[in-house]
Amino acid sequence: MSRASSYVRPLVRTLHPYVPGEQPKIKDLVKLNTNENPYPPAPGVLEAVREAVDGRLRLYPNPAADALREALAKLHRCRPENIIIGNGSDEVLALATRAFVEPIGLGKNADAETIQYFSPSYSLYPVLADTQGTRKNSVRLNADFTIPDAKVLRAAGWNTKAALTFVTTPNAPGGRGYAVEQLRTLAAAQRGVVVLDEAYVDFAKENAMTLALELPNVLVARTFSKAYSLCFQRIGYFVGSPELIEALHKIRDSYNVNGLGQIAALATLKHLSYYRANFKRIIQSRQTVSQALEDLGFQVLPSETNFILTEPPQFPAEEWLRKLREHKILVRWFKDPAVSKFLRITIGSEEEMARLMEAVKAILASQSAGKRKK
Ligand code: PMP
Repeated sequence: MSRASSYVRPLVRTLHPYVPGEQPKIKDLVKLNTNENPYPPAPGVLEAVREAVDGRLRLYPNPAADALREALAKLHRCRPENIIIGNGSDEVLALATRAFVEPIGLGKNADAETIQYFSPSYSLYPVLADTQGTRKNSVRLNADFTIPDAKVLRAAGWNTKAALTFVTTPNAPGGRGYAVEQLRTLAAAQRGVVVLDEAYVDFAKENAMTLALELPNVLVARTFSKAYSLCFQRIGYFVGSPELIEALHKIRDSYNVNGLGQIAALATLKHLSYYRANFKRIIQSRQTVSQALEDLGFQVLPSETNFILTEPPQFPAEEWLRKLREHKILVRWFKDPAVSKFLRITIGSEEEMARLMEAVKAILASQSAGKRKK
């Protein structure tokens, strides 16, 4: 070990950080790898941000994003005290690990040191657990990514006493949505905090926001990134009981949400009908593309998100990733054996989906031409 690396905590030295999807700068690339929204923010949002870019940039922003919390409280019919805004929902997820889970050796028992989540689900959760130095309890979903019933869950090692449980709903990278009733039963059985990570919920049939206001241990995480075309501005939030929210406010950075992000998110809430029309378009495209892929021999899992998880025919998913890239189509493939036979494809614009289908057909045609030559 070099002298400089000896300054780093052993836990951090051995940490495997979260690997985000690539953001390559390739001309004409169809980027379907990070679940970004293909449509731009509403014109009024761009205008609000542009208008705010002046000498005021020298000032600190509002420390708790009060105006945004008030507007979100109206939207969700709760109080600003029920809400904390973060630098993306990733930040509020991280705050929850720091506020509710003890590192190994510091808890009154093993449950107090445990972060629990389903496999597969959002691959950030184990990284957050490792960063906080906690125990991890990863429990397999059913093969079709539904949540096992209570008896099966218990047999699989589900811990109703875990200090913190993350549930991605709808599931990522699977895409499957879950019924509020099932989530209510699951959350009500937990002694610890349950985070319902609803990053993709605007593309789903149901949402579980009501549980955040009904059960004292539930936090619902939302983001402006996916449905509201605002990844760049990094705005996410939790809704939950004032006691949990207050604990998170105590440990956040004093100015954790940048000023332009606050302005963009606030303006977004004034143009919800624009975004709702985009959800509809994306859901429609999701159905069209799923059917078109199935017609070509792909197995497509049911999705309530802005992406699909699909098992491709002919060659392994990793090879499809490479072949699609040769056609300047970038999708996502995960090494995790729970999902390594699938490709995750973000639903882009109608034109982008047409280019995807063209590339898929060309790849399949070249494969069968190759076979004929042999
Ligand atoms: N939750 C899930 C399930 C996600 O897929 C993502 C995006 N990678 C996030 C949370 C975080 O989104 P953001 O930090 O942009 O709000």
